[in-house]
Amino acid sequence: MNPSPDHRNERIDLAAAFRWFARLNMHESVANHLSMAVSPDGSRFLINPRGRHFSRICAGDLLALNAQDRDTLDRPDAPDKTAWYLHAHLHARLPAARCIMHLHPPYATALACLDDTSMYPIDMNTMRFFGRVALDDQFSGMALTDAEGERVAQIMAGDKTVLLMANHGVLVIGPTVAAAFDEFYYFERAAQTLLICYATGKKLKVVADDIAALTARQWRDYSQLAIDHLDNIKAILDIEEPSYRT
Ligand SMILES: [Zn+2]
Repeated sequence: MNPSPDHRNERIDLAAAFRWFARLNMHESVANHLSMAVSPDGSRFLINPRGRHFSRICAGDLLALNAQDRDTLDRPDAPDKTAWYLHAHLHARLPAARCIMHLHPPYATALACLDDTSMYPIDMNTMRFFGRVALDDQFSGMALTDAEGERVAQIMAGDKTVLLMANHGVLVIGPTVAAAFDEFYYFERAAQTLLICYATGKKLKVVADDIAALTARQWRDYSQLAIDHLDNIKAILDIEEPSYRT
């Protein structure tokens, strides 16, 4: 699957995503996590080390974990507990979800805190997510048990790319770092537009389902955009903060 034994390309892409999420203010303190599977069954994956600010993360800092290793949380460099319970279960149960990103970005998290969390199709960005958002409506504290990770994995089964976690935040999955990063970026933009519309107090102009579904399908023909998006971000980081590759 990967010609590089240390998964160099995945590490660099993931480090670039961490750095850029920090620039976009989509990070939160030193919490939240991004991971990338590096074995076909998803049991081995890369994830950020505990307590490291996204803006300082380098490719070489990423932990290489094994979802089958029950002693992981006893390691001196153990990952954050919530990261372990959520990502280990999701990678093991959803091997197609190569990249898993969990954040509490301002607008998408605000949407997750409304009684009606629907991403109404009102512009092209919101229409991108028509039929692609799963809702976890059962917030029950921080995800600190195996059962919680398994429960979330079941909700994400199917063709959904976004999990809106009520009273909590968002989780996005994708086949590559570039795809998941781009999906998260656009979901936050879509939530921003929706909440700005709500703030006007005016009625939303929601398009018909068939138009929203068509637009969502049309977005899928633009998969090159995600690759170009991350390539451009890496080109900027190569000039402004090249340490992300180390
Ligand atoms: Zn969270």
